[in-house]
Amino acid sequence: MSHPFTWVPAEEQRHASRDPVPPPALEFPPELTVSALCGREVVTATGEIAWLWPTCPECDRTTRELVGAPPRHDSGGVKRDER
Ligand SMILES: [Zn+2]
Repeated sequence: MSHPFTWVPAEEQRHASRDPVPPPALEFPPELTVSALCGREVVTATGEIAWLWPTCPECDRTTRELVGAPPRHDSGGVKRDER
């Protein structure tokens, strides 16, 4: 199943973007400027450490709306990491 956005680590947060990923890749390459769902223009990063960055709260909320998932119950504020 596919969603109209891609998670991408950028600038020490995990953002989601609706920009198209350059084929044939499934993820954005590093050092690319993408428009994140939170409205920011961010420069992408890559690597295992980058994927451990905390989720951007605005991108998290927007993606939940897009897929129809309920908002988080556990956070009145920003949660550092979900894993
Ligand atoms: Zn974001």
